[in-house]
Amino acid sequence: MPDVAAKTIESTFPQLTVENGFAALPPEFYTRLMPTPVPAPYLVDGNDTASALIGLDPAAFSSRQFIDVFSGNQLMAGSQPLSAVYSGHQFGQWAGQLGDGRAILLGDVPSHDGTHRIELQLKGAGATPYSRMGDGRAVLRSSIREYLCSEAMAALGIPTSRALSVIGSDQLVMRETPETTAVVTRMAPSFVRFGSFEHWFYNKKHNSLKILADYVIAQFYPELKATENPYQAFLAEVSKRTAHLMADWQAVGFMHGVMNTDNMSILGLTLDYGPFGFMEAFDPGHICNHTDQQGRYAYDMQPQIGHWNCYALGQALLPLIGSVEDTQDALKDYQPQYVARYDALMHAKLGLQTVQHGDEQLFDAMFALMKTSHTDFTLFFRRLGDFQISDPLSDSPLRDLFIDTAGFDTWSLQYRARLKAEHSMDASRRLAMQKTNPKYVLRNYLAQVAIEKAQNKDYSEISKLRKILQRPFDEQPEHADYAALPPDWANGLEVSCST
Ligand code: AMP
Ligand code: MG
Repeated sequence: MPDVAAKTIESTFPQLTVENGFAALPPEFYTRLMPTPVPAPYLVDGNDTASALIGLDPAAFSSRQFIDVFSGNQLMAGSQPLSAVYSGHQFGQWAGQLGDGRAILLGDVPSHDGTHRIELQLKGAGATPYSRMGDGRAVLRSSIREYLCSEAMAALGIPTSRALSVIGSDQLVMRETPETTAVVTRMAPSFVRFGSFEHWFYNKKHNSLKILADYVIAQFYPELKATENPYQAFLAEVSKRTAHLMADWQAVGFMHGVMNTDNMSILGLTLDYGPFGFMEAFDPGHICNHTDQQGRYAYDMQPQIGHWNCYALGQALLPLIGSVEDTQDALKDYQPQYVARYDALMHAKLGLQTVQHGDEQLFDAMFALMKTSHTDFTLFFRRLGDFQISDPLSDSPLRDLFIDTAGFDTWSLQYRARLKAEHSMDASRRLAMQKTNPKYVLRNYLAQVAIEKAQNKDYSEISKLRKILQRPFDEQPEHADYAALPPDWANGLEVSCST
């Protein structure tokens, strides 16, 4: 059993009015519990962009109260903390019951504009009944990665959970070596996962399944209530959001690393950042998670795994939807929705305003060249924006990214002809491409530098990197080194599930 001997003092945190929408569900959906306090917590970083979403003044970050509340050492007035139960498929296998093994929901607060509610969840605030062999803690390293990447993804315009703060403690936990811990506060309208539904289906508790579906539809998909079969419409909508999310990931080279169904958001958000990565030297089969030996979650597998996961959700919803046919029908548009969005994003990435015969071959040839030359994904698209139709010398920084320069020259002739065919204008195309091809992404080595400084108690790099990543499309010439290719030492960096 977890240590529930937490605080009795309730914080009267001045600016947040906490409610407990999820806790209104019947008790089988969660376990109420207190976070386990950490010794001497301190602020590692607070995120003013995320705090603005809930109208929280960033001046609060350094206050004792903020640190106590978002380390789990004190409760906000009105908060009824809990950990949710769910199950899931992990690496394609049914894994049975999982649940929030190190996440504790504090409750929900209104968005700054009052239009919706946002849940606040502590990650790493101690063991729960779902911790299995784990200690319920998150190490500083993985907390910084989740914190920075959530904000990087949000700034790229990709649906994601957000991150309010990282609070550190010198308490040590054992991983491969002893490491200090941290608590990240995550924010999202809901943390319900595909696996939350699978849990009730596989336990043959169809009544609970219905309660959960009705809750999620009422809260987050109210427009579907009036449809003929709301459960089918719900599946179709989640499937569509997932298809779109996968296209968004592919287009920025984001790799999640652990697309288990318990990590798939019912709102189509990027959720549960662990061994993720951004594509650098282009390799469609790249596996960012060291633990994923089969490459189930390799870059080029993500779209089809997203689809597979939607089937797992469909299976779980089948008793509510009523028939196999209707369930399959809800999933049939996944592929075309993915392709349509991916295609639109690729056209934008190449600065193409029209769709023309042969575009797909142009994209395929480009990716084939990038693969043989191990071209950096982010730099390639960013530099492509500087391409000038009538000046072949303008390509040289782009050409430098290719070993096969002859191949590149052939491709650039085709690209130039393609741009001419739609009377593309260099200046306006460049501006448009800079809004879609980021200059700054969270490269593993950038995170690593920030982590190593933080491990030596210098947190300045986290804040600096966060602010750069929160403006990924801006040139920020003073930070150009943050857009550079990874240094040689970064080749040995490995990330895995054990965080
Ligand atoms: P993840 O791969 O991080 O999505 O985690 C898979 C499952 O393991 C989830 O149920 C987590 O809550 C749980 N888990 C991961 N790390 C820990 C930990 N240190 N303590 C307790 N549970 C954990
Ligand atoms: Mg998870």
